[in-house]
Amino acid sequence: MIEADLVVIGAGPAGMSAARQAVEAGLSVVLLDEQKRAGGQIYRNVAHVSPARADILGPDVTRGGQLVAAIQHPRITHIAGASVWQIEGGTRVAYCVNGVAAVASGKRLLIATGAIERPMPVPGWTLPGVMNAGAAQILVKQSGMVLENAVLAGCGPLLYLVAAQMCRAGSPPLALVETQSTADLLSALRHWPGALRGWRHLVKGLGLLAEIRKAGVKRYSGASAIAVDGADHAEAIRFTVRGRQHCLSCETVLLHHGVVPNTQTARSIGVPHEWQARQRAFVPTRDEWGRSPQNGVFIAGDGAGIGGALAAELAGAISALQIAGDLDALTPAQRDAAARPLRRALRGELALRPFLDRAYPPYQGALSPADETVVCRCEEVTAGEIRKFAKLGCLGPNQAKAFGRQGMGPCQGRYCGLTVTELLAAENGQSPDVTGYYRIRPPIKPVTLGELASMPATGWQPNGKQENDREN
Ligand SMILES: Cc1cc2nc3c(=O)[nH]c(=O)nc-3n(C[C@H](O)[C@H](O)[C@H](O)COP(=O)(O)OP(=O)(O)OC[C@H]3O[C@@H](n4cnc5c(N)ncnc54)[C@H](O)[C@@H]3O)c2cc1C
Repeated sequence: MIEADLVVIGAGPAGMSAARQAVEAGLSVVLLDEQKRAGGQIYRNVAHVSPARADILGPDVTRGGQLVAAIQHPRITHIAGASVWQIEGGTRVAYCVNGVAAVASGKRLLIATGAIERPMPVPGWTLPGVMNAGAAQILVKQSGMVLENAVLAGCGPLLYLVAAQMCRAGSPPLALVETQSTADLLSALRHWPGALRGWRHLVKGLGLLAEIRKAGVKRYSGASAIAVDGADHAEAIRFTVRGRQHCLSCETVLLHHGVVPNTQTARSIGVPHEWQARQRAFVPTRDEWGRSPQNGVFIAGDGAGIGGALAAELAGAISALQIAGDLDALTPAQRDAAARPLRRALRGELALRPFLDRAYPPYQGALSPADETVVCRCEEVTAGEIRKFAKLGCLGPNQAKAFGRQGMGPCQGRYCGLTVTELLAAENGQSPDVTGYYRIRPPIKPVTLGELASMPATGWQPNGKQENDREN
């Protein structure tokens, strides 16, 4: 068992910055991440990208390189390829690396597990050739592969970023099918003063749109009735704009309508979550330092609410300061003085979010999919079946799970959880908060019997009972 003052799960901007801040205060850190290299989603594989690939990915690569360099420190043990599958007793963390299970124990734990793409179940989304836009980006970051003959559909800043990266790579998308409407953009204008405080991001966004325009990519906005057609793989995307139907032939469809906090790890130890209507997602309960109600557990970065990479970095550092304070490595005065400029910068980073959230709301057709659309891909459960479970009296996802097995497959509900909540909430006429979410139980990532058997004797209780969200 490896021990440290602080165990961090997630080597993205939040986790890396927290690790660095903690060692600067004199703490020791174990940094666990299932990726083979540090960086998280935005800076995935950043230390190994070629100059040509860096040109495609854009200037963010520089910041990522600096963060990865900063965690090369004798008191930071970065264990790469470490998939965390259970947390016990608050701060003892079980993970698997190279086929062997092991335990890391800390005086404090920081969960910095980031975001996942919001599922976008539209008819045909399970066909080969349809994937999330983020997955296409992972191909570029990890392997330098760029998809061809692709249409991007959905909305949000990441959609523009992926499109611009494809343009830079010489393989522009055939079209952008955008779901936000002019009315959405107009209603976002009331958040314009905040947006102006985030002017750097606005300028970046306008730059992406200029690249897309220059590459001659056709844009459709206000699209609805989106469906992917094909016999055994994607062949075309259909949609309607202002009453007119369109059908574009393509080999690949990249879907994206925003990212949501990856809450599985925090939920697995019973951290309470609440519904955040503006981002249509659940966020964990935390104080201003990122401290959760669970003893010794902090949560920072996009996993605590979507704010972007720089906000994640700042939030990670703020949590680390409080952790250093808790462990008497900093006095309250030192902690507060160091946190003050970080908090100011964080407020600036978050100022643009209300504008973005209003301008690019999730696609309604995927929040409330047609009855025949599969929502749980693991167990092949349709939206119609979820509605039927509601009619049978199921008030929440945990009751409905017993009827249809949705959420019980290998992804443990990551792909269908929010859609099932939205469907049950709408059908039962109650709020998503009251409807609730799946009860997440360990193992939160698949672990084999062989890996379990390889675990050294540590007194670990793989079946340890956890306090958890209410049963719905
Ligand atoms: C697919 C995708 C691509 C994105 N690309 C961009 C982009 O190019 N530009 C941009 O500005 N924003 C991008 N974003 C948004 C971006 O993720 C965040 O703003 C930023 O990375 C958040 O930082 P973070 O540290 O909170 O989390 P992340 O960067 O997401 O880091 C979380 C880390 O936790 C690890 N992790 C999660 N669960 C476990 C577990 N059980 N065991 C071990 N490790 C675990 C993950 O491997 C990951 O490395 C992307 C988001 C997604 C979902």
